[in-house]
Amino acid sequence: AAALVEVKEKRWDHCRLLLNHPSWTPRHVFCLLCQPFYSSWCGHCIQYSPTWKALAGDVKDWEQAIRIGVLDCAQENNFDICKEFGVHFYPTFRYFKARGPTFDVGKTYKGADRELQTVRQLMVNFLQNHTRQDWPVSCPPLEPSSSADILPLMGQKSNQYTAVIVENEDSYVGREVILDLMMYQGLTVKRVLSSDKSLTEKLGINSFPSAYLLHPNGTHAILDVRKRLRFFFSSFLKLLLGVHRKLSTTGAPQEPLLDGPRGPGTAEAWKDFEKSKVYMADLESGLHYLLRVELATHQTLEGEELKTFKDFVTVVAKLFPGRQSVVKLLETLLEWLVSLPLEKIPFDAILDLVNNKMRISGMFLSDQLQWVGCQGSRVGLRGYPCSLWTLFHVLTVQAASRPDALANTSLEENPKAVLQTMRRYIVNFFGCQECGKHFEEMAVESLPQVKSVDQAVLWLWRKHNQVNGRLAGTMSEDPHFPKTQWPSPDLCPTCHEEQDGIHVWNEDKVLMFLKQHYGAANISPKHMY
Ligand code: FAD
Repeated sequence: AAALVEVKEKRWDHCRLLLNHPSWTPRHVFCLLCQPFYSSWCGHCIQYSPTWKALAGDVKDWEQAIRIGVLDCAQENNFDICKEFGVHFYPTFRYFKARGPTFDVGKTYKGADRELQTVRQLMVNFLQNHTRQDWPVSCPPLEPSSSADILPLMGQKSNQYTAVIVENEDSYVGREVILDLMMYQGLTVKRVLSSDKSLTEKLGINSFPSAYLLHPNGTHAILDVRKRLRFFFSSFLKLLLGVHRKLSTTGAPQEPLLDGPRGPGTAEAWKDFEKSKVYMADLESGLHYLLRVELATHQTLEGEELKTFKDFVTVVAKLFPGRQSVVKLLETLLEWLVSLPLEKIPFDAILDLVNNKMRISGMFLSDQLQWVGCQGSRVGLRGYPCSLWTLFHVLTVQAASRPDALANTSLEENPKAVLQTMRRYIVNFFGCQECGKHFEEMAVESLPQVKSVDQAVLWLWRKHNQVNGRLAGTMSEDPHFPKTQWPSPDLCPTCHEEQDGIHVWNEDKVLMFLKQHYGAANISPKHMY
């Protein structure tokens, strides 16, 4: 570790880590670095950078075993480091052992094949080249287990799951799944080879790779995934009840939550729900919180804020697929706002209308918070931000399936109407300012490219996944609802494909799925007040 700190402090100060994970501190002990030296003027490096970035995302969960960094040798403050490391050609890939000597120039990868899958497998090989003495501390064993290791576990109760990947000798799936799950607790992943006949016969497995799961209660069964691919196995295992990500910001391990969400002694009872459904209770609770709590902190609305509020009410009044009493309330609010020539409206007047005047005519929005699909396992997790995402996904899908809904409003024939309204709502009103800043950066970067209502649906999905990727493993993640790339393969198997060993989305299928999932017919009235 001392050697590593030496290398890191002296030479890595300027290394812009693509992974940029908040857990990274100068004292963070990692096992291996794999660094391409590149130069920003080198056309080849520029062309290669998307692959390198994709790789960084692909192996993000391996970071305690292997990290990826990138150093621009064309930057003046990096000249000395590149010289010291003897880098003459770009890009240069170097691998550094976890516990190498104080100064180590690394090992150069000389192969011509720089495909993502090849480099990823090379990283696995390099990890396995460590000896018992210099084996990276946090790295789980990657060698195959034997039937003698696995068979005694069968039928035994345990405080965690054991997943066994059974595969051919040349397969990397087992090692990749082991590394994918190394940041998770509540589960151990092992691999065994298909040549271990006594085990494969006992488990009844004859096609490879396959996965077998030993449950904490002693039962065991083959893992039923649609496609026997790394991404499918890993996603399935990450979503098992009781399996959750270790909090990497503090490094503090959490207790496994095998008793189910919330556990005993919490005031509010857990509501069962299906993750394949959207819940009206979440949408209405979100609207209630937005109108009566978040917006109510603004004494008056004028200028940009008033315009944003009017557009927001237009969008929800026209597109919200809710109960008659709520839609009527939103429509009446819209009529009132449009009819008012005022440039400044006290928010109390809006609240009075919503809370008192409309109620008399049967227009009504519940003032109870009732989170269902958005309930968190602890107070302070999920809830309102979850409902806001859900609301805007529903609205983009409504705009795509009812193209005339915004006719005769200021937003008609604008395929970005919902997204622009969301963007302005987030910037002007969303309580989390930092979130607003990030969202605005994403909007500036790519919102102008959205040209149709279908693209708007996909844009929001993509950006939401980008946020999920950034927040995975941070304090705001509910351990019971890990921030994974969504929809997971169990929700939409056809959305996922693999090309050259890399996970890719089938965006046509994703669009179909989003339209079904966030469509009016999939919104459940369960648990509503
Ligand atoms: P959420 O991310 O809130 O998702 C809600 C539900 O949407 C999920 O349960 C799932 O069913 C579905 N879903 C998940 N991913 C997708 C997808 N890609 N497409 C469609 N549906 C999906 N928190 C921060 O700490 N930092 C931030 O910078 C930040 N930025 C935010 C920006 C916006 C615009 C919003 C609305 C919230 C932001 N948050 C941020 C909050 C954060 O994104 C989560 O909403 C919050 O942590 C609650 O997470 P959750 O587990 O309920 O899932």
